[in-house]
Amino acid sequence: THFGYRTVPLQEKQALVDDVFHKVAQRYDIMNDLMSAGMHRVWKGALVSKLRPPPGDRPFHLLDLAGGTGDVAFRVAEAGGTGTRVTVADINADMLAVGRARAETRGLAGKVDFQEANAEELPFADRTFDAVTIAFGIRNVPRIPLALKEMRRVLKPGGRAFVLEFSKVDVPGLDKVYETYSFKVIPAIGKRVAGDAEPYQYLVESIRRFPHAEAFAQMMRDAGFKRVDFMRMTGGVVALHWGFRI
Ligand code: SAM
Repeated sequence: THFGYRTVPLQEKQALVDDVFHKVAQRYDIMNDLMSAGMHRVWKGALVSKLRPPPGDRPFHLLDLAGGTGDVAFRVAEAGGTGTRVTVADINADMLAVGRARAETRGLAGKVDFQEANAEELPFADRTFDAVTIAFGIRNVPRIPLALKEMRRVLKPGGRAFVLEFSKVDVPGLDKVYETYSFKVIPAIGKRVAGDAEPYQYLVESIRRFPHAEAFAQMMRDAGFKRVDFMRMTGGVVALHWGFRI
């Protein structure tokens, strides 16, 4: 069945997204490995090296927005020194619950905390964080310009925001492969592992509709970010954008 994504009104979009992550929370991490053939590890690794959390006891507080089960947060907490703290914020309590349990198991509960929050309306004071990251989250937010403004608001001056997201494949030939992969293979894996293909069809649609890298850079500038730049990875399957709050 077709999900009818194109006709979904803005206010219902969040409900659809919430439903997807409610259904997959327990299996989210394994799904990530299967669907990206392990590539999400490489992309997140690139994000952490750009972010460069400081070694030693220098205080560094990251907000990992749409942080889900804490995957990015744990990587940053492990890469940074004793001064590194990460707040994971996500709209979905089920994803956060999985994250909290994992933080305990990994002995990272002292460095990583979890908080329910909507990216469009963050419950944090202005100028709170040294950096903000959002990995594979921004395309799920109904009103992206609001989320970008909020990310900038909670950053300290001089702080940087990073957005890791699926982008537009710019390698001839690879675009066709990617198209087939995302429309056939991803929903098929979703059906086998989570018992449901439909939510994944929706996610694949949201990837398709996400703006290309230059257009997204402009959205970041419009939200007030300075020195905005980006890098494409894996032939444009994914792009990493960043911008400063000056
Ligand atoms: N960042 C994690 C990672 O890379 O593994 C999780 C990414 S997952 C694909 C997308 C996450 O975005 C989900 O956990 C979902 O609950 C969250 N999300 C969706 N809409 C949101 C919103 N409006 N505010 C905050 N988080 C949201």
